[in-house]
Amino acid sequence: MKVLVWNENRHEQTNKVVADIYPEGIHGAIASFLQDDEVTVKTTTLDEKEHGLKQELLDETDVLVWWGHQAHDEVDDVIVDRVKKRVLDGMGLVILHSAHFSKIFKSLMGTTCDLKWREASEKERLWVVDPSHPIVDGVGEYIELEKEEMYGEHFDVPTPDELIFISWFEGGEVFRSGLTYRRGKGKIFYFRPGHETYPTYYNPEVQKVIKNGVRWAKVTDNQTPTYGNAKALETISEKQ
Ligand code: ZN
Repeated sequence: MKVLVWNENRHEQTNKVVADIYPEGIHGAIASFLQDDEVTVKTTTLDEKEHGLKQELLDETDVLVWWGHQAHDEVDDVIVDRVKKRVLDGMGLVILHSAHFSKIFKSLMGTTCDLKWREASEKERLWVVDPSHPIVDGVGEYIELEKEEMYGEHFDVPTPDELIFISWFEGGEVFRSGLTYRRGKGKIFYFRPGHETYPTYYNPEVQKVIKNGVRWAKVTDNQTPTYGNAKALETISEKQ
């Protein structure tokens, strides 16, 4: 299985706090726990040619993991369309944290994807509300993060196919923080935590969820349906 971790990689260049937490970049941290005997991981970033999202690379990618925040607008629409086509054609997509506002996620959702937010280093407790789902294999009743950014409802996304986590925040808000969608042949998993100034992607349970999410979103070998005018499989009796 081939996974591509894409990161905007801007905070890491300009914010010492972020650079100290993620010396190899957020993409580097995510790649290091995704890589195993069954999973080959590549990483690319916004400032690379074609944002590191060339057609050939996307064509061989089973699942794309996306982290972005301050430079969503710098992602070229041509590249967004290219990624979207691959998702509709079956490539899995894992959208993390502030990538809720990425062009690719907004385009696939068709809504504003807006929400409430607050940076107050508050506690987040992510409650598992779908314990049978493969994305929460090996995860307990909840995941607790001592310090995170708050995201609060209402989250302006379409009703998800599956709701896997609901977060509670110390300040009182709640948030649907684990959602799945299907678009075309592609599977999409949105997972909320991962603000850049906290070491969230080192949390073993967060890592487990992202690993499971990547496996769940993996492209399937199902045949592409044939659309349009269809020849009858059986003889249709002539009716007067
Ligand atoms: Zn954030």
